[in-house]
Amino acid sequence: MRLSRRHFLALTPFIAEARSGHTIVIAEEASASERRAARELQTFLQQMTQARLPVATARERVTGPMLLVGRSPEVDKLRLDIPWGSLGDEGFALKSAGDHLVIAGGRRRGTMYGVYEFLERLGCRWYTPDCSRIPKRASIALPHLDEIQKPAFEYRELFSTPSRNLDWAARNRVNGNFSALDGSAGGKITYFPFGHSFYELVPPARYFATHPEYFSFTAGERRVTRAQLCLTNSDVIRLGTEGVLHWMGEHPDADFISISQNDTEGWCECPNCRRVEQEEGSHAGPILRFVNAIASETSLHYPRRRLDTFAYSFSETPPARVRPLPNVNIRLAPIGNCQGHPYEQCARNRTFLERLKGWQRIAGHFYVWHYFTDFWQYQLPYPNLDELIADIPLYHRHGARGMFLQADISPGYPTEFAELKSYLLAKMLWNPRIDARATIREFLRAFYGAAAPAMSEYLELTHRQVRLPPAGKGKTLWTYKSFEMEPDFLPAARRIFDRAGKAAATPSEALRVDKARLSPEWVEVLDAKKMTLRGGVWGPADPQRFTRLFQSYMTKLRSFGIERLYETHDLAATEAEYARYARPYRAVTIENGQLRAVLIPDYLARVISLQHLGSGRETLRQTTPDERASNIEAMGGLILLAHQGYLTEERHDPTWIIDSSDGRHAITLQGATANGLEFQRRLELKGNCLHTTATVTNRGNATVKLALQSRLEFQPGLRDQPSVLYGFRRVNGATVEESLLPQRDLYFGIENHTGNERPNGEWTVWNPSAGIRVRNRFSLEQAHICRLWWRGRGENKVDLCLWSPDRQLEPGESLSLDADYDVEAL
Ligand SMILES: [Zn+2]
Ligand SMILES: [Zn+2]
Repeated sequence: MRLSRRHFLALTPFIAEARSGHTIVIAEEASASERRAARELQTFLQQMTQARLPVATARERVTGPMLLVGRSPEVDKLRLDIPWGSLGDEGFALKSAGDHLVIAGGRRRGTMYGVYEFLERLGCRWYTPDCSRIPKRASIALPHLDEIQKPAFEYRELFSTPSRNLDWAARNRVNGNFSALDGSAGGKITYFPFGHSFYELVPPARYFATHPEYFSFTAGERRVTRAQLCLTNSDVIRLGTEGVLHWMGEHPDADFISISQNDTEGWCECPNCRRVEQEEGSHAGPILRFVNAIASETSLHYPRRRLDTFAYSFSETPPARVRPLPNVNIRLAPIGNCQGHPYEQCARNRTFLERLKGWQRIAGHFYVWHYFTDFWQYQLPYPNLDELIADIPLYHRHGARGMFLQADISPGYPTEFAELKSYLLAKMLWNPRIDARATIREFLRAFYGAAAPAMSEYLELTHRQVRLPPAGKGKTLWTYKSFEMEPDFLPAARRIFDRAGKAAATPSEALRVDKARLSPEWVEVLDAKKMTLRGGVWGPADPQRFTRLFQSYMTKLRSFGIERLYETHDLAATEAEYARYARPYRAVTIENGQLRAVLIPDYLARVISLQHLGSGRETLRQTTPDERASNIEAMGGLILLAHQGYLTEERHDPTWIIDSSDGRHAITLQGATANGLEFQRRLELKGNCLHTTATVTNRGNATVKLALQSRLEFQPGLRDQPSVLYGFRRVNGATVEESLLPQRDLYFGIENHTGNERPNGEWTVWNPSAGIRVRNRFSLEQAHICRLWWRGRGENKVDLCLWSPDRQLEPGESLSLDADYDVEAL
């Protein structure tokens, strides 16, 4: 029931002129959170009115009216109609009884939430750990209350900085694993481990040498790099069960034990796992059967304990047959969705909606893991408010019982508008039916004060970039890609922030505006970082300007206590990465009348451009300034890399020097590494073909583990309208043709072609919109694995990767990998 104004007016004040006849009464056996609740009630009422109400236990003889906090004999004596049994841990009742008021609910956190609800009714707000509103009142009338509340979602987790503050988390009623909540605030919902736990359960270091069959069979072998477990292996099920029982014993308080896939691809392709996958029509099939097998065993020992697994990335599609057992919870984590538009309005999210409905049909209990920042760049503008406002209720309608909302939890609130979004989301997780727009307006007024109108205008500017026409430009917003900025965006943002800065009326308002301004300022830094080719140099257009902007930006970040811009890097690592890669490079160009190739010797000797001269079309994807060198294999272009083994991140990166440039159409390079590897590489244009050859020789004294990769990243076309197909004939005669971009079911794909399933010496990738085709020819003797790797969701990467066999290169031995790339305009 909502409280009407009439209720306030009708009643006599319970606090007036800094006095009150009321006593706050708690039970003798009140829980820790109920004691906290009574203290909080006392504190905030005093801050509001200067009246300090005494706190007594029910055993003490209290005369006069009471604020009864938590269930006690005194509450029971009132014989109110409170359905205690249905309130659970977190529900509460607010009930007037004559001059008394009862605020009581679940002992764990319910009573405490009831007190915060009451204080919010009186006008209190805790917007951020540093920004609250506690209104001053000369008098307060005790409203007539008669209501029951329970949270919409039982699990409410904000993986964002404010929830690291205990008071903020308790007062805004989030209860997740990473929040700072402890016993004093009724604890929280916990996981052990939190996720991606396959290798914690069956560690490769312990088992791979003796039992490779426990791990994924992928690309023709059992592997542990970028791999998973072989989930149909009975020993793996036994080890998994033992491991989970052990965890349950060691972590008696964990609400969930997570048995979940590693955060990479590499599912097992052994015949057994493949058969299950085919029966189930989904990679989730083998996973869920595995988790169920463990769950049926652990339920015999721990009938109340719950297991958890992911429906994420390759396992997002619900399985056709298997159903999660009652003690198995699913966390559905759509990382491949467009976050710019309410899911039901965005054609790009249709597949996901079907999956959501599918999980709703088969899972008795599931949570959703939803993303609300740009994961490559926390600071980039991320206009997802329309989406969040529509989709938190959508998840609730479709049966999700919990939400993990992920941005980041590092100090200084690096995520764009982390303060606003965290507050709004906390409120929506308790009750998705709140007036979200009003909540946003209220927050902006409280947090930015006189600058609120300008900040609201800025939010309009960013949201207009993604809103569907005619309200906006309809751009996409992916988890790893903010919207595509047009040249008019930055000047408009600057104008608004200039106004906001002038409008700010207090130092703290000015500081908050300045902090929000970090977001468009990062756009400016990235703009300056953009690599362009001019006069034989590839690099930022004005390297000194870029360095100046970048350094002053880092200084500003530190002044706000921000320690990271990305999930995996602190600021020092970011600075090292930018200093190493974002700089001017000497470029070497070769051309032959049909093609022009540009090579950057000091950038891993990458070919950054391969242009078809007749049409002027580019065949290679160009790197964008928001990309990061931690993913340097896939930053556009054509590259030769020497890994320490198939798919390993560890590489032997040589220093390259140009050996000779014979004429204008060929270049020979030599490379050397400290461990004695010597590289010979040649690129030559002949007709419409770029021939590449590479040989590496071990000139050192020790054996070196080595696998060569020749990798072309193809031209995807326009950012929001990519178009890439690929096809080939296999050695065994079968033909393959697939459309890769735009993404359809999955946001990524991987195909490892080995043996007779390899392309028969050539494979082709083409882009009908950009009008360009590349045929990659190679020797079956040299190319042991042909790996197709592609990614949608705005990253738009399609890579043809040729891999040599893994070799232990003895001193004096060599390994070669050649590749030809024929270019055609369509
Ligand atoms: Zn298997
Ligand atoms: Zn969309």
